[in-house]
Amino acid sequence: MSAPAPYVSRVPFESVHPKALAVYCSDGRFTEAVEDLAHHLGHSRIDTLTLPGGPALLNRWASDYLESEGITRAARFLIEGHHIEDVLLLAHAGCGYYQSRHGALGPEIAAEQQLKDLHFGAKELQVAYPHLRIHLYFAHPQGKTVEFRPVPRET
Ligand SMILES: [Zn+2]
Repeated sequence: MSAPAPYVSRVPFESVHPKALAVYCSDGRFTEAVEDLAHHLGHSRIDTLTLPGGPALLNRWASDYLESEGITRAARFLIEGHHIEDVLLLAHAGCGYYQSRHGALGPEIAAEQQLKDLHFGAKELQVAYPHLRIHLYFAHPQGKTVEFRPVPRET
């Protein structure tokens, strides 16, 4: 019995780390669209940090404290270790994480909380890393497309 042959990906390996990090939801319906947005913004490749709810977890006051601690530490590891310069924080409409936590209050309240979490995460990262360029987006499926609406930063 010989071992199955390894699969060699057609995607070339690049040894240099990307300079951009995207924090978003695990929801695979958005994965390729987020990569496409990153390309549009000039990042051919990105580091990613994905967990259900995405940037929700950066807000330790609104999410589970231990989960939040974990994702915050992971974000810091990538930002420092990979010399990240741009961070994208992305929320998406119809997020199951928010529906399970805030769904009973209706989609508007969930969306409000998503915006709060984006701003909270952005502020925390900006204080820790003043050099970062932080970009906030809210993804909305529109028929067969995904529209990424920029969310202006709170000052
Ligand atoms: Zn989601």
